[in-house]
Amino acid sequence: MRVLVIGGGVVGLSTAWALAKVGHEPLLFEAGPLPNPGGASHDQHRLIRSLYGAERGYACMVGAAYGAWDRLWADLGRRHYVEAGALGISLQPPESPGNDLAASLTVQRDLKLDHDLLDARQLSDLCPYFQIPDSAWGLLSRPGGILLADKIVAHLAGWLRREGVDLFAETRAIDIDPEAGAVRLADGQIALGDAIVVAAGAWTGKLVPALAERQTPQRQLVVFLAPPQSQAAAWAQAPAIAQFPTALDSYGCPPVAGTRLKLGALAARRACDPDALTEGSTEEAEALFAPFREILTEGADYRVTGYKTCPYAVSHEEDRFLTHREGCLTAITGCTGHMFKFGALMGERLAATATGELAFESFARWAAGEEIPG
Ligand SMILES: Cc1cc2nc3c(=O)[nH]c(=O)nc-3n(C[C@H](O)[C@H](O)[C@H](O)COP(=O)(O)OP(=O)(O)OC[C@H]3O[C@@H](n4cnc5c(N)ncnc54)[C@H](O)[C@@H]3O)c2cc1C
Repeated sequence: MRVLVIGGGVVGLSTAWALAKVGHEPLLFEAGPLPNPGGASHDQHRLIRSLYGAERGYACMVGAAYGAWDRLWADLGRRHYVEAGALGISLQPPESPGNDLAASLTVQRDLKLDHDLLDARQLSDLCPYFQIPDSAWGLLSRPGGILLADKIVAHLAGWLRREGVDLFAETRAIDIDPEAGAVRLADGQIALGDAIVVAAGAWTGKLVPALAERQTPQRQLVVFLAPPQSQAAAWAQAPAIAQFPTALDSYGCPPVAGTRLKLGALAARRACDPDALTEGSTEEAEALFAPFREILTEGADYRVTGYKTCPYAVSHEEDRFLTHREGCLTAITGCTGHMFKFGALMGERLAATATGELAFESFARWAAGEEIPG
């Protein structure tokens, strides 16, 4: 089948990969360059972790995601992944209502996932770079770690080109006729396909009106840091930090495989138009980082060495991925801050759904985090 894929982030590229592998003919259209530094998939690292609070479906999906990454590594001839473990830290007692990390612990136990429960002393030993209060406890889960995101998207685009897949960079889709299988491009040309997949990240609502009301494009700023010399060795061994003891809903990526230490906070995201994304500034990065200095050992001695802004679509439905089917079109959005880890797997499932191998209803329920065997 000829499948028109709109969007060249990790989801669109992975969909093209999955289609090409089984003999379909994907054509991929990307509004920006390929890879696109302005998309959500382009950054040094993304976390993969099965700490998903009470969301058992997504915790299960992580296991399947590792299988899909292995299939991708086999094709690329290289693993762009660092197994570091994934850590959550909580200051609330596990029995306190709404404790997300306690819910993760229950799911880890139920699903028999490999994990360690850490008390405050063990946490201090593991993370000397944090000031750990006596009330803290942690959950270290394996497998978990860092996907080297910009290497993955660049290598995937290169693989597709070498396989002869048509990738059209700087080619924006303007509108879609899902019944006719037609996509009108910015230069006025019409592309025709048997199926269409929209994986346009924060832009999806502009192309698929039915999804516009179910998500909000938001801008997220992350900061890159140089730790003080005394903490550098510990950070180099650090796990991926999925949850950490600030009020900001924070996460951290250790400086592995040539990347820089990076911290982010969900509290810092703002609604945006992804076509008019404002650059960050040193002042904004310093302001984001200021509260982190309070909880870091020698926090005053960290240097902000850079920052990056990215847009993503925040799902209005409890961070669940949002899907839509209309005629021959299948669309996904609402990827918020947690789709990258599922990139290769989502590509496989989108490809199967677009070509009719997988029923859209099953795909939609699975993507929304329902635990579906198989
Ligand atoms: C700061 C930050 C931290 C994150 N951390 C994590 C993490 O730790 N773990 C994790 O799993 N996930 C994480 N995520 C989420 C993850 O990165 C995203 O959900 C994922 O990359 C989305 O991929 P995508 O392909 O759907 O979108 P994108 O990568 O944004 O790609 C969409 C592409 O579509 C193109 N496009 C849009 N409109 C059109 C059009 N009309 N025609 C043609 N092309 C179009 C855009 O130019 C863009 O390149 C994070 C995201 C951010 C921003």
